[in-house]
Amino acid sequence: MRFIIATNNSKKLVELERILAPLGIDAVSPKEAGISLNDVEENGATFLENSFIKAEAACSKTGLPAIADDSGICVDALGGEPGIYSARFGGEGADDNDKNNLILERLKNTEDKDRTAHYTCAITCVFPDGNKIQVEGKCFGEIAYAADGDGGFGYDPIFLYNGISFGNFSAEEKDKVSHRGNALRMFKAELIKYLEGNNAYK
Ligand code: IMP
Repeated sequence: MRFIIATNNSKKLVELERILAPLGIDAVSPKEAGISLNDVEENGATFLENSFIKAEAACSKTGLPAIADDSGICVDALGGEPGIYSARFGGEGADDNDKNNLILERLKNTEDKDRTAHYTCAITCVFPDGNKIQVEGKCFGEIAYAADGDGGFGYDPIFLYNGISFGNFSAEEKDKVSHRGNALRMFKAELIKYLEGNNAYK
């Protein structure tokens, strides 16, 4: 059984492959399936909508069940920003450091109790018959006063989980509590239920 993973990010592909292989699922990239998703506009208003847009496009281009995810960080004192714009925050050319510094700068007068933030990871799987599975995982923490640690990626050096920067977590430690880890565990459970109840995938 082949599924397409609607991402050009090789790390996400490997992560999903690891989870799907025990279910007898062969995960292929857009390139392996012979399609490009560069023309797909992520213009949804939520993480779930954006993950659906990507999965739906990959499914209709290939006829294969398609999985996509969308994730980001929401900072409460910034009204939930950068949210779905996490990857584009700070404008074109801004690297992870620039993005983190921008958040630290905007929160420089924000006191401890108001520095709350959370990561969200939405996953959608669209099947050729129109059925879909959608899950959303979250991870709650606070924004630090300075970047710390070089583990993880993106906003991890400024995200504190139980007071410790995600930049100081190993990949395994982060998986256990992260938005992505939580979403993937939920997704796996939902997918197993779906496959068991659907003759087309037996
Ligand atoms: P996307 O899901 O690939 O669109 O990623 C959205 C953006 O959110 C990434 O570019 C990161 O900046 C941020 N992000 C999502 N998940 C994480 C995470 O686990 N750690 C740090 N940053 C993240």
